[in-house]
This record gives sequence, structure tokens and C-alpha cells, in this order.
Amino acid sequence: MSAHSPTLLLISGAMLLMSAGVMTLFGSSHSVYRGYWTWVSAQWLVALGVLLSAFHDQYPSQLLVLANLLTLQWPIMVLLGLRHFYARHPLRIPPIVDGLILAAAYLVWFGTWVVFPDKLRQSVTLGLGGALLHLYSILMIINMREFKQNSALQLVTMALLANGAVYGLKATELFIELTDSGTHYAIVATMASVLVALSMLYLSLFLTHQRTELRLRFSKRRLRYLADIDTLTNVPNRRHFHELAARLLGSSAAEESSLLMFDIDHFKRINDMLGHSVGDEALRQVGNCTRDTLREMDIAGRLGGDEFAVLLPDTKVEEAMTVAARIVSRLEDRQVAPRIARLSLSFGVVQLHANEPISEALRRADQALYEAKRQGRSRAVIATGGEERPIFSRSQPMGLITT
Ligand code: GH3
Ligand code: MG
Repeated sequence: MSAHSPTLLLISGAMLLMSAGVMTLFGSSHSVYRGYWTWVSAQWLVALGVLLSAFHDQYPSQLLVLANLLTLQWPIMVLLGLRHFYARHPLRIPPIVDGLILAAAYLVWFGTWVVFPDKLRQSVTLGLGGALLHLYSILMIINMREFKQNSALQLVTMALLANGAVYGLKATELFIELTDSGTHYAIVATMASVLVALSMLYLSLFLTHQRTELRLRFSKRRLRYLADIDTLTNVPNRRHFHELAARLLGSSAAEESSLLMFDIDHFKRINDMLGHSVGDEALRQVGNCTRDTLREMDIAGRLGGDEFAVLLPDTKVEEAMTVAARIVSRLEDRQVAPRIARLSLSFGVVQLHANEPISEALRRADQALYEAKRQGRSRAVIATGGEERPIFSRSQPMGLITT
């Protein structure tokens, strides 16, 4: 078997063709990302180059030059594909340098082929050029921030190393010896091509899969957020509030919990007099002030319209009244809109009974809130006793906002 054994070259070419084919099929039937088609092009071109060199004896020598040009692009195209794929984390050396280095390698190799007819000098130039291109790509890929945790990048770097070493061998005297004995060089070159084919398959499929998973996870998180959180006020919506409250009350942490339910006074007037967008801004501010007041373990929710609820674990009703006052006082510090003369809240407050479901506690808090409204608004009322016969405390006035 000779160093340029057509059979081994054919095997290499077939492996590369197969990888290019599978990558193309996958890319045309799945969502792929920036850089994918650069890798596919690199595979087709390198496969074509290797196949051309397998048949070069039957064709004019110009075809071998073309074959070499087709194979030389591979390390740079792989790098360019990775740059596109990781476009958000650019390397310090810009991609234009990759193009310039490849163009320079082409020129030197082409010039050598035109000026020096002897095969040895041509081989050394091609070998050196190829090895340097591979080395450059390896150094760039190692410098990518994803390199350390990414097995696909590590595998493709190994393929670059193996293929670069084959070019390196071509440039040394060892190559001459190997040419004499033949087999070893051709086998090493074939094994490098197999590694190139497999690593590119793995790289393209693995990175695509990884990114798709990442996007899916992100979409799921976003969907969950949209389903659970009220987008206007950024607090949990009614359904999620019930879910969170039930979860908390099911745990032992909820020994002594209080529930606040509150509502903006005369909110319809704000909407009617100042417009819906000012009304929205008022709701947003109430949401912000509520969130800013609470501890991490507390649960807030927008029950609907201008009605909010807050579940305070390990909190007595007296402390819950302080929380209500703090929400109001925060609201006083904010200017909802220049034309709002007055924005006030009314509160209903209850202490949760043992094993009481949140829906029942909410109904009792609603009774207290209704009583606060009845007593003149901008005040808080505590309800004790059962839902059937609630006992209301004397209402406690809450501060007013005047702007
Ligand atoms: P009260 O003092 O008795 O609470 O009187 P009110 O005018 O506040 O009456 P109510 O609480 O029943 O009014 C709720 C209003 O909230 C009715 C509705 O037009 C308005 N609303 C509901 N959802 C939104 C919203 O997302 N944005 C705005 N701007 N208004 C809303
Ligand atoms: Mg209201």
C-alpha cells in the first residue's frame, strides 16, 4: 500500500461524505442555529477534497491543487462556525483574521506550486501551512469560554490536533521515510479523517441539541412566569396565590399566620377621571409597595381588579396591622401620578384558624374588608370568630396619600 493509497483515501472521503450527508439531512429537518451550515459546508468541501485526491493520478495535477485547497479550509471553517454559534461571546481576535490567515495559506501554497515544481518542497509548504492553520484554530477554540465544560469542543480540538499532526508529518523528513514504508502515514491520515468526520457529527448534533434544550428550558420558565405572575403588578395572580398559600399552609411553618386583604378606595374614579393608564400605574405602585414591604417567606397576590392579598406566616394580627401600615406609608412616599389627589387602601385582616383552608380565610378577610369600606374606607378592620358570625374590631385609620 502506498502513502497515497487510493483505497484509504476513498475510505476517508466516504466517512467525510457520510458526516456531511447526515449533517445536511439533520439540518434540513430540524431547527439549527447560526454556524451550523458553515460546519456543513466545511464537511462537504473537505470530503470533496479528499475524494479528489484519491483519484488525482487519473487527472491533471491542477486537480490535486484544488483538492488541497478544499481540504485546507476545514480548520478555519470549523472555527468560523463556532464563532457564529457563540456570537454572544466573541473572541478577542476578530473573525477577519481567520479569513486573512486562510487567504495567506492559499496564496503561499498556490505560489509554491506554481514556482517550485519539485514535489518535496510542495509537500513541505502544504504540510507546514496546514499544520499552522490547525494550530491557530486549536488555540482559538481553547480560548472560548465554553471550552472547559463542553465535550464536543474538546473532541473537535482532538480531531484538529490529529489532522494538524498529519499535516505536520507531511512537512517533516519523517514523511519521506513514511512514504517509503507507505502504510503508516496513510493509516494515520485515514484515522485522522475518521476522527474529523465523527467529531463534526458529534459537535453539530450535540451543540444543536444543547442549545435547543436551553431554549426550551427558558421558554418553560417564561411560560410558567406568564401563567403565575400578574404582568401588571408583578405579584402572583389569584390562582398562583392560592397555590402558594395552600403549599405554605400545608407545611408546619404556618403555625400562626395572618392574612391581609386590601383594595384601592374609589379606584373606579381614578380610571374614570384620569384614564386607564393612570389606573394601571396606581395598581403597579400598590404591587411594588407590597412586594417591597414583605419578607421573603410572605406571599402576596393580586386577586383581581384592585384587590390584593398577603399571607404572613408566623405573624399575629397586631403585627399584620403594622405590615398594612407599612404598605400604606410606602405608598405615601411614591407619586403615582401628578394628578392623583388621593390614593388610599382599605384592609381586612384575619388570623388563620388551625387547618383553615386559604379560601375560607379569604372569605373572612373579605368580610373585614367590606366592613372597613363600610366604616368609611382608608382603614383596617380585624375580623375574629367564624365566617357565619364574624366579630369586627374597631377600625384603625390608615394614612392617606395627598399629592
Ligand atoms: P371601592 O372603594 O368600593 O373599592 O370602590 P372602587 O371604585 O375601587 O370599586 P371597585 O374596587 O369595585 O373597582 C375596581 C375597578 O378596577 C373596576 C375596574 O374598572 C378596575 N380595574 C380592574 N382591573 C383593572 C386594571 O387592570 N387596570 C385598571 N386601570 N383598572 C382596572
Ligand atoms: Mg376598590
